[in-house]
Amino acid sequence: MSVVCMQEFLEKLPKAELHVHLEGTLEADLKIKLAERNNHPLRSSSAEEIRQGYIYHDLPSFLTLYYEGVELLQTEQDFHDLCYDYLKKVAQQNVLYTEMFFDPQLHTRRGIAFGTVIRGFNAAQEEAEKDFGIRSHLIMCFIREMSADSADETFTQALPYLERPGRSRIIGVGLDSDEKGNPPAKFAKTFARARALGLHLTMHCDLDQQNTHEHIRQALQDLGSERLDHGLNVLEKPELIAMARDKGVTFTLCPSPNDVIRPGRSRQDIRDMLAAGLKITINSDDPGYMQSVYMTESFAKAQSAADLTRDELMQISRNAFQAAWISDDERALYLDALETFARKHRVEMSS
Ligand SMILES: [Zn+2]
Repeated sequence: MSVVCMQEFLEKLPKAELHVHLEGTLEADLKIKLAERNNHPLRSSSAEEIRQGYIYHDLPSFLTLYYEGVELLQTEQDFHDLCYDYLKKVAQQNVLYTEMFFDPQLHTRRGIAFGTVIRGFNAAQEEAEKDFGIRSHLIMCFIREMSADSADETFTQALPYLERPGRSRIIGVGLDSDEKGNPPAKFAKTFARARALGLHLTMHCDLDQQNTHEHIRQALQDLGSERLDHGLNVLEKPELIAMARDKGVTFTLCPSPNDVIRPGRSRQDIRDMLAAGLKITINSDDPGYMQSVYMTESFAKAQSAADLTRDELMQISRNAFQAAWISDDERALYLDALETFARKHRVEMSS
């Protein structure tokens, strides 16, 4: 079958996702199912009504909605269903590999055991790998508006799982939620512990946040973050661009939330990142709350915003496989799949 049409090209392009929050993949349909299962009252009675209530204009108003949804996740089965639904969806979009954020504190602070969350996710990961061939890891994020001590206690709770990385599939740690007044440096101790254990490090530097340049500097220079989630404000400081380039940092861009926060700026942002020689990837972030914009739709958004060529799209996909926290053998398999796709595509374009 020909992949000359752009939509089909994007669907078939082998992809890796590096920035998706599992709690943010909670779709309205699953919310209704979970509410019934757990006898939890919902303000809206239909999936449509739930989706219509998704009105937010900044990070705090988005987080209020998000935390409401999280309340519905109670049992191991709930966490399983959340993760399995996401993996099934993106496997159908030719996502071969994904690293999924989760926020244990969102659950442990409600009295749900760390193990309940992890066992649910892990069961779904194993099942999805068997059912669809999609491989996945977890990245444990800390909620930045909670205390540094809370992050550290969470890390301690996670130790039995972290010390068996092959079993829990937690490959790294991250930092997310409300950035205002919560710089990366606040969590330096816990990130140092994670690094000592051989875990990978990433952190959010959300768009247009207060002190964003200092936060980016801390993330890269002081904490040694291997990636920046979003991180677009790097563009305003040549010294930060140089630092990111020298350290080989990968940026996980998410076109859907960017559209909300910086409407009309996507073209310039993506073009400027590419022109600066920075390694960018395209990801979905919180698709359950953002019109179900998963990976193919995120690529389509970026493509149309910045007129990305097929070669640029393939390079962006290659960047994600290259930045993935996997073995070189596994990476070679994915890069091979991508090259096979590229070869086939060139033949079809020239015929
Ligand atoms: Zn995010």
